[in-house]
Amino acid sequence: MSQAITDLIHHPYVPPAGFAAPQPGVFKASTVIFANVAAMRARDWKNKTGYTYGLHGTPTTFLLEARIASLEGGKHCVLVPSGLAAIANVNIALLKSGDEVLIPDNAYGPSKALADGELKNWGITHQLYDPMNPADLQARIGPKTRLVWLEAPGSVTMEFVPLAQLAAICRQRGVTSALDNTWGAGIAFNGFDLRGPSGSGADIVVQALTKYPSGGGDVLMGSIVTRDDELNLKLKLSHMRLGWGIAGNDAEAVLRALPSVELRYRAQDAAGRALAAWLASRREVAQLLHPAFAGSPGHEHWRELCGGKGSGEAAGGAAAGLFSVAFEPRHGVAQVDAFCDALKLFKLGYSWGGPVSLVVPYDISSMRKPGTWRHKGVLVRFSLGLEAVEDLRADLEQALAKLG
Ligand SMILES: *Cc1c(COP(=O)(O)O)cnc(C)c1O
Repeated sequence: MSQAITDLIHHPYVPPAGFAAPQPGVFKASTVIFANVAAMRARDWKNKTGYTYGLHGTPTTFLLEARIASLEGGKHCVLVPSGLAAIANVNIALLKSGDEVLIPDNAYGPSKALADGELKNWGITHQLYDPMNPADLQARIGPKTRLVWLEAPGSVTMEFVPLAQLAAICRQRGVTSALDNTWGAGIAFNGFDLRGPSGSGADIVVQALTKYPSGGGDVLMGSIVTRDDELNLKLKLSHMRLGWGIAGNDAEAVLRALPSVELRYRAQDAAGRALAAWLASRREVAQLLHPAFAGSPGHEHWRELCGGKGSGEAAGGAAAGLFSVAFEPRHGVAQVDAFCDALKLFKLGYSWGGPVSLVVPYDISSMRKPGTWRHKGVLVRFSLGLEAVEDLRADLEQALAKLG
């Protein structure tokens, strides 16, 4: 476990007088009462020196913001109602008509859909770049480029991109970079300090708190963290104008889950690696896609950034409890669907980081630029919950029998 988790658990909190419990209270409000007109006029929500209205923050949401900023190694945090809203908030705050945003081809799908929908309708163009090839990003940055999205590993296909190099290119070219750090969760690496060429850190780090920080599969929330005061103010102003407040009870659920976030992350990582190693040895599987395993695309970048010393279960370092496998092409779509349907503990469903293990079959060729996906077999993504690994392995084994 890291020093960071100790700091998170001992993060400052001032309890009500005479009630020295370390667990924070939950405050919920729309209206906040002012003592007089002068106080009303003087109160400024922007720098958090006071409370003005529930939408702009309560003691509960301010505390969660401070703790998420600390988890990510940043200074400021803005909370929004989902991970996708965090991505949208960044785009809306930083882009205007005529600007361009660059998005990795293997990014979280709805982020690309937002660019292709609303952003395009507002006159904001986008290009998809190949994140495994820094020269491709370098070549696509042009005079209209205002924002570059980064993400590691790639959504579903799990390529671990050379994040430090990509961020350093953005810094050299003077373009703001925003990292979707949902996989790393602020635990696998620090998005603001990518241990690469100097100046290789993202300017903005977003996370779907829906996943690991919530851990319960019962909250949707997103965070936007920065180290820069001016950037934070831009994000906060858009956030205020959009009216994207979060609910006190949801904030409490995440505050309650945060002390165990690293414990859960590492448990799900260990379970994921154990099952990934087992699946990779099966004759039905053509390719394992898990950044901690040699032979998975970008494994060496994962080792550099996340502290891995070798491959697989014994490699150390940190990786989320998430991996995909490409089945041998002889197992067609219908057979792989039957495998997924036969699973009993692994449930069919989106998201990850909760207690229940999940599985989703994907048709990758429809999700990437034509011709860029090399594997022929059907791809299935697994996300680990908190069940006993032996039970999950037995579940996979009985379902593999259905593949034929
Ligand atoms: C889940 C996810 C999101 C979106 O989070 P929601 O809270 O479900 O909107 C964004 N990015 C990544 C990488 C995700 O996995």
